[in-house]
Amino acid sequence: KFIVIEGLEGAGKSTAIQYIKNWLTDKGLAEENIELTREPGGTVLAEKIRDIVKMDVLDETLDDKAELLLMYAARVQLVEHKIKPALANQKVVIGDRHNWSSLAYQGGGRGIDLGLIKDIKEVALGNFKADFTLFLDIDPELGLRRARGRGELDRIERLNIDFFNRSRQVFQDLTEAETNAVCIDASQSFLQVEEAIHQQLDHWLAGL
Ligand code: C5P
Repeated sequence: KFIVIEGLEGAGKSTAIQYIKNWLTDKGLAEENIELTREPGGTVLAEKIRDIVKMDVLDETLDDKAELLLMYAARVQLVEHKIKPALANQKVVIGDRHNWSSLAYQGGGRGIDLGLIKDIKEVALGNFKADFTLFLDIDPELGLRRARGRGELDRIERLNIDFFNRSRQVFQDLTEAETNAVCIDASQSFLQVEEAIHQQLDHWLAGL
């Protein structure tokens, strides 16, 4: 199964992934049967793309559409070389971001038509998708404050707050429209977030 965690900067995705991992090992799954991925990243090419999209390493402006296509190039590499083989080996894959991040950031944030992004997704991944998505919802002001506390902000984190409000709206709409997705209030305490995640996972598992 492919479980994905989505959310804005500072929502607590990395911590949430540890909660999901703990939940899986508590259920008796061996560590070697759990694979963690992050997007963009996770293969040699995808990590190089990550460096390009996160930092100002280019002496030219990264066009929005180029950014979108780079995200999908990274995603194809990760899905084909890491995620699908792991799933074929009956592993559980926990994804730190996946397809929704492109709809939220390049779509909602940058303003690229969501229909076009869905077409690109079709070309890149066909009907491949997450089995369960946990969206960690946070007010962008609070999230960015947390992210800032972590250190210097990257190229995207330095964008205007409106960018993140538009991205958040897309995440919320996608969660509402998708049966196998839930929204978790990430402004709660760590303990409450952990409880909510475990509860949602139990509920999902019971329905399988
Ligand atoms: O915070 P994280 O480790 O997920 O870093 C990924 C970076 O790439 C973030 O700055 C995020 O905003 C950005 N990103 C993006 N579009 C995506 C996925 C990630 O701009 N589709």
